[in-house]
Amino acid sequence: LVEIHGVHKSFGTLEVLRGVSLTVRPGSVTVVLGPSGSGKSTLLRAINHLEKVDQGFISIDGELVGYRRKGSTLRELKEREILGQRTQIGFVFQSFNLFPHLTALENVVEAPVSAQRRRREDVEPEARELLARVGLADKADARPRQLSGGQQQRVAIARALALRPKVLLFDEPTSALDPELVGEVLEVIKDVASTGTTLVVVTHEIGFAREVADTVVFMDEGVVVEQGTPAEVLDHPRHERTRAFLQKVL
Ligand code: ATP
Ligand code: MG
Repeated sequence: LVEIHGVHKSFGTLEVLRGVSLTVRPGSVTVVLGPSGSGKSTLLRAINHLEKVDQGFISIDGELVGYRRKGSTLRELKEREILGQRTQIGFVFQSFNLFPHLTALENVVEAPVSAQRRRREDVEPEARELLARVGLADKADARPRQLSGGQQQRVAIARALALRPKVLLFDEPTSALDPELVGEVLEVIKDVASTGTTLVVVTHEIGFAREVADTVVFMDEGVVVEQGTPAEVLDHPRHERTRAFLQKVL
């Protein structure tokens, strides 16, 4: 369970998140929509403590992200503790971010070994299975530059899954891809969703949202304008801002 409670975040004088609250149920798929600059990436980054929030809190399975309670005050975790916490949260970026000098397999094996201190011999067979699951069994020894964008993104998804995360965050996972490669990546995300992994996906792929999301969240100007089932938010939006946005992307 991911709980986001009254989160505020500013960059200088620009208030990017203005009191965001959201609950993500275990095993559910939440799709976040919203115009450019509405704070979607900042919100995802806050869940991972890549951005420190100014106010409010985020917790995962009851554990505060980035802080511990000390009496009535909050103390920030040590860097090492933050890194440990981050391994419970998978993050897939728009721009793949694979290690260019490592093979696909090594990319998947890396984090469980270095960040979770698991044994390479144990992780490797699992990593091969994950590559097979994303349709890349035959690309284990390829380096990122030898792979298409869609294949690289599928390696990135396998890599995120290798950490056995409690929640997996996707920030526009298909927006850097050529149109013909979008489908294969969405299929993989759909497959991951079907296995009960908790997902939060920022995307403009409305068809994907309609088909896969349990909850659709529409953000604008740093607030959640509305949320509900895909049918509610996409077909019967209650707010003018949601309607205007959907008209543009549909
Ligand atoms: P997009 O759809 O374009 O990815 P977004 O909804 O993800 O947009 P954010 O990336 O969260 O939007 O950014 C929200 C606002 O915060 C933008 O105005 C952006 O310029 C600003 N911003 C984000 N990160 C920083 C930063 N590190 N320093 C200063 N401003 C930032
Ligand atoms: Mg963004």
